[in-house]
Amino acid sequence: MRPILETIALTDARALLLDAARPIERTERIAIRAANGRVVSQPATSTLEVPPFDRAAMDGYAVIAEDTFNTPAMLRLAGAVHTGEVSPHHLQRGECILIATGAPLPAGADAVVMVEHTESIGNDVRVLTPVYPRQHVSRRATDISIGQTLLYEGDVINPSRIGALAAAGLTHIDVYNRPTIAIVSTGNEIVEPGQPLASGQIYDINRFTLSAVIEMHGGVADVRATVSDNVDKLSDAVAATEGADVLIFSGGSSVGERDLMVDLLQRHGEVIFHGIAVKPGKPTMLGRIGRRLVLGMPGNPTSCLSNAYMLLIPMLRKIARLPEYQPHVITLPLARRIVSTTGRHQFYTVKVTDGTAVPAFKASGDITSMSHADGYIEIPAQTDIVEAGDLVDVKLF
Ligand code: AMP
Ligand code: MG
Repeated sequence: MRPILETIALTDARALLLDAARPIERTERIAIRAANGRVVSQPATSTLEVPPFDRAAMDGYAVIAEDTFNTPAMLRLAGAVHTGEVSPHHLQRGECILIATGAPLPAGADAVVMVEHTESIGNDVRVLTPVYPRQHVSRRATDISIGQTLLYEGDVINPSRIGALAAAGLTHIDVYNRPTIAIVSTGNEIVEPGQPLASGQIYDINRFTLSAVIEMHGGVADVRATVSDNVDKLSDAVAATEGADVLIFSGGSSVGERDLMVDLLQRHGEVIFHGIAVKPGKPTMLGRIGRRLVLGMPGNPTSCLSNAYMLLIPMLRKIARLPEYQPHVITLPLARRIVSTTGRHQFYTVKVTDGTAVPAFKASGDITSMSHADGYIEIPAQTDIVEAGDLVDVKLF
């Protein structure tokens, strides 16, 4: 056993991690329908005008505005134009044409009177309110012009941005690839849910929690078979994940005799740090094998997941070129006093109940420490007690 003699502060660990993480360079062209949440790699430019023609912005009557300046004004109904149609009629003074929202303005017309401001009298229309030229008309190209940049490099695609691409008739968009994060659960005792459990065994939790976090923050989780505590088998897993951008091991990152992560990293690459002054999650390590970053996460499910929040998310989002994660934060009084471990930055789960933050942490081996909580508070390393009633910032999961 090689005890972790020195730990580094969480902020230092995060700085090293962010420094080592390189934004992804690979790009692909994908259908806009599949592009939500992706990051634009090439600006998207429109080759057409939107709207492609002057169109009515209201249901009503296409008119020559000047004909309505003195109201009430009687106009002769000269036809109708619905969406998808083009009126063959060239509007003359004293005429109007019934028009639907979105229909092209007939030639000669320059405004639309809302139907609410008219009365229909036989084949005539009485206009009750004047309109000025261009009123209730969406002019050609006012939304998008030819050559206009719709999305810039680095933009994160969202529903409205997909809409802008669709408006311009674009079917595909160039985006950065999502980084592939290979996940390898290690431990002789770890069994995949669905398989029978022999005595001494437990089901794998971490591969599921890690994959979910990865998928939420712009990565592709590449979940690999569980590997036993054997350095040769772990080496095989390293070789098999060559194509991944990041390799995450869960388990074996501590200092027991079967905790082989340090050996593995030393055999194939280098250790950047081992041991962080956090609670839970101290036995976490970062290393590098070839061009891949390797995160060694503690096996304890809560330690593993809390460090996914504190370290993996910032790292992954940098690689994926996503903006820094801003969790939803609510400030609440703490319901009960928490005694924290000095010298370690604490990730402490809480449940929001009756407008208070109720401590929910059980033990780092207990997944319900987190699954029964709504979020977490962070207690700085130098703070030993947070009193009941103190206001705390709850970061919601
Ligand atoms: P380790 O980090 O390998 O020393 O494991 C610490 C604790 O976490 C042990 O109780 C393991 O059985 C447990 N553990 C390790 N990996 C997992 C996993 N993938 N899912 C759930 N528990 C795990
Ligand atoms: Mg283990």
